[in-house]
Amino acid sequence: MLLRVLVVAAVAAVAFPLVAQSPAAHSDLAASAQRQLPALTETYKHLHRNPELSRHEEQTSAYLAGELRKLGYTVTEHVGKYADGVQAFGIVAVLENGAGPRLLIRTDMDALPVVEKTGLDYASTVTTTNAQGQQVGVMHACGHDLHMTVLLGTAREMASRKSEWHGTLMLIGQPAEEQVEGAAAMLADHLYERFGRPDFVIAEHDMPDAPAGSIAVKGGPLMAGSTSITVTMRGIGGHGSRPEAGKDPIVLAAEFVLVAQTIVSRQIDPQQPAVLTVGTIHGGTKFNIIPTR
Ligand SMILES: [Zn+2]
Repeated sequence: MLLRVLVVAAVAAVAFPLVAQSPAAHSDLAASAQRQLPALTETYKHLHRNPELSRHEEQTSAYLAGELRKLGYTVTEHVGKYADGVQAFGIVAVLENGAGPRLLIRTDMDALPVVEKTGLDYASTVTTTNAQGQQVGVMHACGHDLHMTVLLGTAREMASRKSEWHGTLMLIGQPAEEQVEGAAAMLADHLYERFGRPDFVIAEHDMPDAPAGSIAVKGGPLMAGSTSITVTMRGIGGHGSRPEAGKDPIVLAAEFVLVAQTIVSRQIDPQQPAVLTVGTIHGGTKFNIIPTR
């Protein structure tokens, strides 16, 4: 918790120097970030207790939209359309403040199918059924609760300091970041055509290997893109005592997992970063049956 609170204060300050006018404004900002901290900590705990999976950020986005409206932002909800036509829970909050650059600051909103075992008094106890019909725990294990808290803290500072900057601030709540489809969904729903193309974009993410209280900044792409595939191994089922009469897809799958690891080590240029992970593997129903797939 300490690390997270410190990061809230620190990252809330990161956006502001882009438009702050003087060193005095910086120290003033640190003081007001400190003043915001108790309320922001409660916001953080509320979001942490109430995680929602990717594509299901209904309550989360509504909460964020409500808070931003209270701060005077013009908020549009349900921005985004997935490739399969499903409407997304993306939000866009705009604060216009005269002529000047357009700055976009982005938070993500979704949580992960992870059972929380932290034992914290504000730990998530949420469970839900995932897209595969399995019962799963839900937890903000990637820090998107923190990112939303930072966005709200930044939104408040910017709204209360309109005399210190000019331009247009555009805050977005991005859905389904964990499935790498929420940003595309917002762009496909004409994000920039409808709300304007930003001159600058800030996307923050917490980083457990960075020291508490520090901010790391990098221009341009930072994290890798990713994609995922589902592979089905088909065999010929039978009794476990008669393997010669069937074709065992479990053995095939085990071989495939090992061979697939050589794609990165043997086929990718060593200068190019690449990772291949098999995240789930399922097969069979009983110890003495060779499954068909
Ligand atoms: Zn994340």
